Amino acid sequence: MLVERIWAANDLRNFHYLIACSQTGEALVVDPLDARLCLDAARKHGFTITQILNTHEHLDHTAGNADVVAATGAKVLAHAGAASKIGGVDHGLERGDVIKVGRTVELETLDTPGHTRSHVCLLAHGDAPALFCGDTLFNAGAGNCHGGGDPGLLYETFVNQLARLPDSTRVYPGHEYMARNLAFTLDREPGNNEAEHALAEARARHSGEARITTLGEEKRINAFLRLASPQVISRLREKFPEIGEKPDARTVFIKLRELRNRW
Ligand SMILES: [Zn+2]
Ligand SMILES: [Zn+2]
Repeated sequence: MLVERIWAANDLRNFHYLIACSQTGEALVVDPLDARLCLDAARKHGFTITQILNTHEHLDHTAGNADVVAATGAKVLAHAGAASKIGGVDHGLERGDVIKVGRTVELETLDTPGHTRSHVCLLAHGDAPALFCGDTLFNAGAGNCHGGGDPGLLYETFVNQLARLPDSTRVYPGHEYMARNLAFTLDREPGNNEAEHALAEARARHSGEARITTLGEEKRINAFLRLASPQVISRLREKFPEIGEKPDARTVFIKLRELRNRW
């Protein structure tokens, strides 16, 4: 499996991805916003785009669909529940559906609500597992729930699905928010040395060259995966005394999300 990350260089800081078969050069484009950038990257690498995957219906993940289809004839795949909102979807996806790209790539569809009600992540298995997670999991952060989502559902997606994937899983999110999110983690957990290191590193890099993290690392630097940290809990209680001494993980997650909304 070949993965090309394409930086949109826009205010929303989107990433697009090309996932290609190393034998046939067939490629699936994840969340095309700037069709031109996606088409140019495919041409440069000798890939043929045959499929488009939208992780969810927000326009910054779908706006390039029509132009990519016009240029390539690619088929559009998206969550069955988001298909009518996106329009032009050829195949509505459900949990467990397997998407094949060329001869060598198989991507499992995860049904991952929270940022929106109908959101999919793609999981590539194998020696080097990879997760294409749209606006669900970000580097050191979590998607917001302003655009039709629900923080309780996002919590369940994190705990019941994403946190259970292998620690070696590489994380490919829909936006680049690494430094900002690490600053939030450090605001919640000032003693987190690894997050501090990662922040210095992130600030020294161009945004389009943000480091690719693994899920194991995310569990150490992402406040939304550190729900049992005594420091995270005690500092949260300063803001929300009503959560008591032993809040459950769901409450910690929802309050962190609430705090991050206005942070
Ligand atoms: Zn979104
Ligand atoms: Zn987005």
